[in-house]
Amino acid sequence: MEVRIIKGTNQIGGCITEITSNKGTKIIIDFGEDLPDDNVITKKENPNIDGLTIGKKKYDAVFITHSHGDHIGLINYILDDIPVYVEPVSKRIYKLLSVFTYKNMRLKTKNMFFKEKILVNNDIVVTPYIVDHSSYNSAMLLIEADGKRILHTGDFRSHGLKGDEFIPTLKEINNVDMIITEGTCLSKDEEKFETEEHLQERALEIFKKYDQIFILQSSTNIDRIKSFYEASKATAKNFIEDIFTANITSSLNNPSLPNPIDYSDVYVWIPTKYKKKSFKFKKKYVLPFYKYSKQKSYENNKYVLMVKTTMLEAIEKLYDKNHIKNACLIYSMWNGYKENEDMKSFLEEIKKFGINDIIDLHTSGHASKKTIELLNSLNAKKVIPIHTTNKEALKDILNNVIIVDDKEVIKL
Ligand SMILES: [Zn+2]
Ligand SMILES: [Zn+2]
Repeated sequence: MEVRIIKGTNQIGGCITEITSNKGTKIIIDFGEDLPDDNVITKKENPNIDGLTIGKKKYDAVFITHSHGDHIGLINYILDDIPVYVEPVSKRIYKLLSVFTYKNMRLKTKNMFFKEKILVNNDIVVTPYIVDHSSYNSAMLLIEADGKRILHTGDFRSHGLKGDEFIPTLKEINNVDMIITEGTCLSKDEEKFETEEHLQERALEIFKKYDQIFILQSSTNIDRIKSFYEASKATAKNFIEDIFTANITSSLNNPSLPNPIDYSDVYVWIPTKYKKKSFKFKKKYVLPFYKYSKQKSYENNKYVLMVKTTMLEAIEKLYDKNHIKNACLIYSMWNGYKENEDMKSFLEEIKKFGINDIIDLHTSGHASKKTIELLNSLNAKKVIPIHTTNKEALKDILNNVIIVDDKEVIKL
């Protein structure tokens, strides 16, 4: 086999990996946008890769590890006759993200897989392993061909709610010849790797202190939604999801995760701007949630409301009706986003509505150095760092690290 990191040896996100078998079968792993970090789309770009997005088809399949924009965000550019494989729940989440935030982008995904092997050209076998990450149902991919095995980690961690499954998953994967691993934590020294359970305990202490809790977090970080819901329930508050989050949580088909359909204490906030959406949009994404958007959810003044930076009007409305009295905002995202202009002004504006206390409560979506170190158990002969701006540092953690640049060919 031959491996080429088309993009990603010197950047976080937007990584594109090409794997070619001896017989010439070619696959791509992940096709997302360049980002400063997950979830925020900073620019649209079409990377124009010959045989993938333009010209005659040269690739046999594309596999996507998870629904974050920096891994899936460019799949629309892929040539029509190339199959794109995405885990079904990741695909659903991405579709909702597209509909709510990218102006109804058309999805060209033709295929999907789930806990199953996919055989490409009777030559390359790709097996997904669901792994802990801040994006629900993220997968690591095992690629087998020519008697060799490559593990592509995608994004992962082991301090989230699925973290306990990480070591058993590595045991199941067993020895590999090569690992292509994310190394986000090598770049970001300030990142915190507190477990999600511990974060939940800290959330509970905050929830005891305030009556109205506003939460700013990624709607696709399902672990975090669960943590805040648990703290909300323990302090007898109503949990109110904004309409976008409600669509996401309800689409997971998992009654153990807080969503308005399965939970009597989970409500929905529908901002007035949704009245202006098309009838088709409203019918599909808004009307099914009307019955969960009852006013009583915030009338007793003990509630948790998930907000977006675009929801200032909704917050003002609550303030005007005297529903903000003892409130705080929990900022549960990467700190770097605070540099964005709309975030800056949001955090400033909410103070006018009685929300003066802004509390940081977050843990990284990525693997800590300790977690990455566990990959040594797979005894890989070659380890390639991607999804990092500090690839050399991986040598301190893993054996047999080779430092490569974008587009360099590595033989296996
Ligand atoms: Zn990523
Ligand atoms: Zn990710």
